[in-house]
This record gives sequence, C-alpha cells and structure tokens, in this order.
Amino acid sequence: MALEKHIEKVLFSDEVIAHRVNQLGIDITSDFSGDSEETPIFVGVATGACLFLADLVRRIDLPIAIDFIRAESYGSGTVSSGVPRVSFDLKLDITNKHVVLVEDIVDTGNTLSCLIEHMKAKKASSVSVCTLLDKPSRRKVHYKLVGKGKFYSGFELNHGKQKYLLCPDEFVVGYGMDFAEQYRNLSYIGVLKPEYYM
Ligand code: 5GP
Ligand code: MG
Ligand code: MG
Repeated sequence: MALEKHIEKVLFSDEVIAHRVNQLGIDITSDFSGDSEETPIFVGVATGACLFLADLVRRIDLPIAIDFIRAESYGSGTVSSGVPRVSFDLKLDITNKHVVLVEDIVDTGNTLSCLIEHMKAKKASSVSVCTLLDKPSRRKVHYKLVGKGKFYSGFELNHGKQKYLLCPDEFVVGYGMDFAEQYRNLSYIGVLKPEYYM
C-alpha cells in the first residue's frame, strides 16, 4: 500500500490498540459509575485525539457528552515551538462538571498543563486525563489534575523498563497523530522512515 511504504515499523497494531482502548473504556466506566448526578464531558484534543476519542467513547457505558478543544504548541515539524495556547474553545459549559480530557500523546506536558488550567478556570469539578500514549521521560512541566481527577494512559513510550521498547525521542504517527498533518488516517501507530521527515 502507498501509505505503508512510508512506515519504518509498526509499534501498535489495530488489534493491540483496540484491546487497550476497550480496557480503558471499562476502567473509566467503572470509575465514573458511582456518580449518578453528573454526566461526564469527554473533551477531545483536536486534531490528534480524533480517532482515539471516537473509539474510546464507544467503550464507555454511561451517559456522557462530547466536546472538542484545540491547543497548539507544535508547528508542522517534530519539535515543540513553545508555549501552547487554546486556539479553539469548548462549546459546552463545564462549570461543576467532570471533564475527561482525551489526548493522543503527552510529551513535555506543556499542552496538558495549559488545558488543565483552562478547565480549572472554567470551574470544572474534576479534570481527568485519558491519553493513548505517554512519554513520561520527556516531561518538562508537571501538571496537576483537578478534584478527584485521574490519569489514564494507554501505553507508555519509555526505553528500558517497559515491554514496548521505544526510544522516548522517537516520533510516532498514525491513529490520529500526524507529521505535517499527514498520516492521521493510518489505522495503527508507527514510526516514519527517516526520508519522510523532509
Ligand atoms: P506536549 O505539549 O506534551 O509536549 O506535546 C503534546 C502534543 O504534541 C501531543 O498531544 C501531540 O499532538 C504532539 N506530539 C508529541 N509527541 C508526538 C509524537 O511522537 N508524534 C506526534 N505525531 N505528535 C506528537
Ligand atoms: Mg494532542
Ligand atoms: Mg501534531
């Protein structure tokens, strides 16, 4: 396939992703099941979390609402271009609501901490985070969850101790994640061949 020719290696196949997303859905459903009065709001961080959000919410067995937010810190390349800002805001009122921020990947933590502060300012009663991928060894900013918020992560990308051996600086694409706005439509997560990094 034309697109496959660009990929050096597959890190997480469709099947592996589906299995993990299903488990995340079960965990989140169970954690939010006691709270009968409040409908949690799942906020997808555009554009990267689009496929993950779509799959995750179908595994949540609770009444929920869905919204989107956009924060930008990355340019078109693989290196962060500085302080992120909210460039497209929520439609829903999250005052006194439980928010689950759905992210593709947490890297330095800059974007996440900006978004959490944003939700806090809007008086969310709790802010949880569900990220598909996490690169904990690259963290520069320490974010603080709000209220009884929890941190859920699909896979950790960290060399050494994990079963998914990956250098933490490796840049991944697919399943919503881009390089220069491309490759989001891959159904799996992989690493690009160096010649496609321009
Ligand atoms: P942070 O603010 O935590 O440094 O970066 C967060 C955002 O940068 C992620 O939500 C994602 O959109 C982008 N990002 C970080 N690492 C990668 C990566 O390996 N691949 C892709 N495609 N995007 C990444
Ligand atoms: Mg993102
Ligand atoms: Mg991007």
